[in-house]
Amino acid sequence: MLPVVALVGRPNVGKSTLFNAMTRSRDALVADMPGVTRDRHYGVCHLGPRPFVVVDTGGLSGVEEGLDALTAQQVRLAIDEAQVLVFVVDARDGLLPQDQGILSELRRSGKPILLGVNKTDGLEEQDALGEFTRFGIAAMLPLSAAHNRGTEDLIAAALPLLPPDEDESEAQAEDDSIRVAIVGRPNAGKSTLINRLLGENRLIVSDVAGTTRDPIRVPLERDGKRYTLIDTAGVRRRARVEEGVEKFSVIKTLQSMAASQVVVLMVDARENLADQDLTLIGHAVEEGRALVIAVNKWDGMDAYQREQCQRTLERKLVFVDWAKTVFISALHGSGLRELMRAIVRAHASATHELGSSDLTRTLEKAYEAYQPPLVRGHAPKLRFAHPGGSNPPTIVIHGSRTKHIAPAYRRYLEGFFRKRYRLEGTPIRIDFRDGD
Ligand code: GDP
Ligand code: GDP
Repeated sequence: MLPVVALVGRPNVGKSTLFNAMTRSRDALVADMPGVTRDRHYGVCHLGPRPFVVVDTGGLSGVEEGLDALTAQQVRLAIDEAQVLVFVVDARDGLLPQDQGILSELRRSGKPILLGVNKTDGLEEQDALGEFTRFGIAAMLPLSAAHNRGTEDLIAAALPLLPPDEDESEAQAEDDSIRVAIVGRPNAGKSTLINRLLGENRLIVSDVAGTTRDPIRVPLERDGKRYTLIDTAGVRRRARVEEGVEKFSVIKTLQSMAASQVVVLMVDARENLADQDLTLIGHAVEEGRALVIAVNKWDGMDAYQREQCQRTLERKLVFVDWAKTVFISALHGSGLRELMRAIVRAHASATHELGSSDLTRTLEKAYEAYQPPLVRGHAPKLRFAHPGGSNPPTIVIHGSRTKHIAPAYRRYLEGFFRKRYRLEGTPIRIDFRDGD
């Protein structure tokens, strides 16, 4: 499961700037996903060799009173969730008493701490760091989050402190099951669906209940196909009740998406598609996962409501129009066959093996039909293509001036490849490379 790194510090030291620098994706899409606690941002950092979740405990903006209490609460939550703590301070403000308070709290956790000294731009390194040596934290890193300096060093320093990679790749390679993450907001019907799919087999998981806070993997066999359901909330009803509050765990959701091949996003047909649903979809796509949208509680909706719902979904989901939407009732078990078919289909597309010569031929056809617009009198050239990986299917295209290829042309190519290989239910990645 993805490890977790938290950014902790006073307001205004630059945590959210740093968060953006760390989670910026290939497509520069920064997704923040407010969880139950407001103003906390979660993202996945892909800049190093091993991805991890970044939590920005941050934004206390607008809060005038009880700042200390709120900071303390954020700090505790960060300590609770993360394996590595990045303590962010402001080189321009220097060492303030509140920093000292936060640090003592962090130290009590016994978790590894990195000191990120931010806003060092325009300062002499010695001046910038000097004061903070008093903290006695060995790993002290000068940063300028606003200018994206020091981020790589920070990541390099954090990686060795993370818990060892369980290296599940071997086990997964032998296991031919389709790994499915079932995600969605509370009450969407995730546990009902999982229990319904498992039928009597649900007892398998009972002894796991409460022993771990990680998402749970549940084997499922259905119509001769094997699946591993990666569950964020579902089957552990009892554990959840004991925890008291039933909270939506963004971290668990990100972890289960990362561990999966196919993400099933469950939404309640009676509720509108919320921003959080769209953010979850954005994350799944950014992570390159295949995607199925399951609209639950389809039972008991009249024809008018169904039509309204379908129309809204179509409008809001144009950006993932390749993803299949299925209408189900987890409670009554209807639509589940179609759901499983969509999962199998999406998985097949996501892991489809592409061949170099065929890709190049398809590229030529696409290029002949429609060429990228000229850039200062020169056309970007696309020469040949080869596969660059699967889940998501990645197509590497070699050419020249590919930097100038507009997003619209990239989408055109994506659509062309998608149609040619009938890649339904999965995002496609295109990597342009200049020169040969
Ligand atoms: P947060 O409250 O800790 O999340 O802080 P923000 O990320 O919102 O940053 C607070 C202010 O500091 C903003 O105006 C940023 O533009 C600024 N800032 C952040 N990082 C840097 C930096 O590296 N150098 C400078 N000079 N300013 C920065
Ligand atoms: P979770 O929080 O996503 O795991 O959601 P639950 O599975 O706990 O379901 C939340 C509520 O919705 C429960 O009261 C379920 O009985 C109800 N529910 C789940 N699926 C359906 C469905 O297909 N139709 C109807 N009418 N209710 C459902």
